Amino acid sequence: MKNKEKVKRITGVIAAVILFCVAIAILIFLFRKGDVINTPENPTGQVTESSDLSSPTSTRQYTPIEGLNRYLPRKNNPQNVTLTADKDKVINDMFNSTVDNDATVYISFPDSSVACYENDKFNLNTGIFHEKHNYIATVTIISDSIIKSGYLLADRDGTIYMNEIKKSTMKHDVSLRIINRDNPITQDEANDTTGLIQLKDKNYVLDNRDDLFILPHVKQALEELLAAADKQDASLKMHVASAYRTYDSQKQSFDYWVNRRVTQENMTYAQAYEYTAGRVAIPGCSEHHNGLTLDVVGYGYMMDESSKGAPYAIWLKNNSYKYGFTVRYEEGKEQYTKITLYEPWHLRYVGLPTAFYLYNENLCMEEFYQKLLTEKLIDFTYDNETYWYIYAKNDNIYIDENVMETVQYSRIASNIEGYVVLCKVK
Ligand SMILES: [Zn+2]
Repeated sequence: MKNKEKVKRITGVIAAVILFCVAIAILIFLFRKGDVINTPENPTGQVTESSDLSSPTSTRQYTPIEGLNRYLPRKNNPQNVTLTADKDKVINDMFNSTVDNDATVYISFPDSSVACYENDKFNLNTGIFHEKHNYIATVTIISDSIIKSGYLLADRDGTIYMNEIKKSTMKHDVSLRIINRDNPITQDEANDTTGLIQLKDKNYVLDNRDDLFILPHVKQALEELLAAADKQDASLKMHVASAYRTYDSQKQSFDYWVNRRVTQENMTYAQAYEYTAGRVAIPGCSEHHNGLTLDVVGYGYMMDESSKGAPYAIWLKNNSYKYGFTVRYEEGKEQYTKITLYEPWHLRYVGLPTAFYLYNENLCMEEFYQKLLTEKLIDFTYDNETYWYIYAKNDNIYIDENVMETVQYSRIASNIEGYVVLCKVK
């Protein structure tokens, strides 16, 4: 009886100790888990524990020693390495993506004590990286078939892989879509008035005109531009002479000038057509169809050669980019734009930092796209931030928004294959 009671008491004590230990273990587990999730260095919030890292579900594992080393070029700066895949499948294998032969891979290491490229070697300190970062680098693959940007991860045994990135759901827009003689838009596209609002301010709409319409964000940029101009030089007195145009209104204007030149200036129809096309866009080829374009003229000036050298024209040339506009038909760019008349009043809204880039590089949009199609990636700095224009042949775009923010994404033009993606690198 006595022994039985003793056994019972001991069993009770052991059970209590076990319960206590289990409770402590659960508390430690929860505490540590919360700790990892709240760590600010955690970039994705997806991969949080070593068990997750060692068993990525939808990424293919790859050993870095055999892969990266072969493709790292000699470079002094270990923080940024550009890998070119050449004619090898290594990138396909590594990132489990269908990437064509000309793929370029950009790898940027945030912390050289975790991972870096030094003395021709890709170094990974698996002993410490978990405690500091759960990623070793950001990676961007650019090829004709895919754009993929995300985090490069590794587990403790040095197995390296890319985090899973879903296909971007963002929609391309018209913010950087070019319209010119070689790249017309359809009559339906030109007549799309979605979102347009009327310009009514009598300070810059003359003669009670009620036919000026534009997209809201362009109206805001226009008003900022006019306010800045007025503050700087009140004598400039600019007003809006033209904004959105339908296909028919462009056609009316175009036909009027062709006809006038045939009947009054003794030109053949072909001559009149060509001459007019250099000064008034052919219907479907006018930027005024897109709701992003304005003609802004100084008071007392005509929209012809007399505006050349006018104070308002000089002010727009030097300042309009600050508000997101590009002077679309600049002097000296006729061979690219096919508009032979210098139009210092014709402002196309492209937004910032694109307007800054075009101004700073002295490029018209046609030249910009020539450059982009040749170089595939253009990087530049604006306001202390790094931006990339990336040429994408199709819309196979996978970008982790923690790595890069998409600023603009446009179909380039009706007769140019592909898209332009402007990203801000984080
Ligand atoms: Zn215009």
